[in-house]
Amino acid sequence: MKVIHRETVSLLHQQAGDILESFAEAAVQSSGDFGKVEEAAHVAFIELRNVLMSAGLTLSSEESHRTHHCPCCNEALHGWALPVRRVVTSEGEAAYRPFRYRCLACGDDHYPLEEANGLSGSQFTTGAKGLISEAAAQTPFGHVTRWLLAERGIPVSAKEVDRTAREVACWRAQEEERLKAAVFGEEAAHLRAEGEDPLNVVPALHEFSEWTEKSPAQISVDGAMIRSPKKGADGSLEWFEHRAGLIAPARRKDPGKTAYVGAVCSADELFDCLAATWRKGGHSQRMSVFVADGAKWIWDRVGLYFPDALQVLDVYHAAEHVASAANACWGEGTKEALDWRKRARGMLMEPGGPDAILRTLLSALKKPEQVADIKALTREVRYLFGHRHRMHYHALKQQDLPIGSGAMESAIKQLNTQRLKQPGMKWTREGADAVLRIRAAHLSGSFQQTVQRRHATLRAAAQRYQGVATPVAA
Ligand SMILES: [Zn+2]
Repeated sequence: MKVIHRETVSLLHQQAGDILESFAEAAVQSSGDFGKVEEAAHVAFIELRNVLMSAGLTLSSEESHRTHHCPCCNEALHGWALPVRRVVTSEGEAAYRPFRYRCLACGDDHYPLEEANGLSGSQFTTGAKGLISEAAAQTPFGHVTRWLLAERGIPVSAKEVDRTAREVACWRAQEEERLKAAVFGEEAAHLRAEGEDPLNVVPALHEFSEWTEKSPAQISVDGAMIRSPKKGADGSLEWFEHRAGLIAPARRKDPGKTAYVGAVCSADELFDCLAATWRKGGHSQRMSVFVADGAKWIWDRVGLYFPDALQVLDVYHAAEHVASAANACWGEGTKEALDWRKRARGMLMEPGGPDAILRTLLSALKKPEQVADIKALTREVRYLFGHRHRMHYHALKQQDLPIGSGAMESAIKQLNTQRLKQPGMKWTREGADAVLRIRAAHLSGSFQQTVQRRHATLRAAAQRYQGVATPVAA
């Protein structure tokens, strides 16, 4: 090891030794109070983390002071040390001595080390941003600040948590854009025409490796509302819609992680993202069932984006519409309506049952004078007729395939309700969009991959300081 490194290492020994000594002293003084030992250990761990990280950053940055070249003109850069800088890493606060590099030809300043580690214009390393934002995906910003300070000794304000969550959500959104472009982009179409697959060069946002080859998939989408701080014309708070989707093993017993997507986005953006995830997942041979409620924006797109999926109308929505049809036919609360509703609910699950229900309702339509509410009945018959090919519940049940959108409802609960609808919460569209994206990544178990890819991208970009070797004249 170089002499300069020896100095840092011996300082590390000394600082760590001091921490261990204070800990031992506190343990002795606790005289039998294990709670006090636990407290002392917690403090010692935080101090050790900071000491380790500071020594680590110093050693690492000293080692990086090889010759850097100007990315514009390839001249060797001149560097000089700046005052010690405090930064926040995923393992606590740390200090190191930054270097400024200047190209004497161009006159520009450069900070290669900071660029490579996400520290340009930010005191948080890429890893710290990942830690902060994954916590923000799970719990309110105020809790994140308290948790990080108590557990890691990381001081971060709620505002910084918000800003960091938005930045990381942006990384994720950019990855989603690249994935979508590789399927639906104009350039992707050209590449495919030339026999190349543009999907090969974009990272997968979701991991499907645990899935068994033959297990069928459930695909679902839905929308839900979020409260905005803006007031509408009547003085009450406005609400706006977000959309979400999932790809999960259709049978509960089958292994495999669920892939979630969620954002404040248009129906097309959601379907683009979900379909691109499906294609990148290599599911072309897999049987799939698309389960959803009756929303028009959904069924308008399913055939286009998932042409091979078996379409299923959520059975609870079907039952609700059958019940409304019964009320429209015989009058709400009448014995006939109640009896038929009960029978029809069972019939929905029988082979040929949904068709039999429709036949009864269609023949009722032919005798409008006997119908309680002909307008409502027409509406319900139109709905059920439009979805009749999505109501083969008996056959689906036989194959142990889903007939309800319970998985999607639970996804909305996890993505939205549990995080965005806590008491008193209000969200701007941008703020809600950021949290939904990182929360979807977190729930899918693919959050840290996005952070790692970001780190790798920044490191790769900093390669431009390595300089271009001048060819030796022959
Ligand atoms: Zn230059």
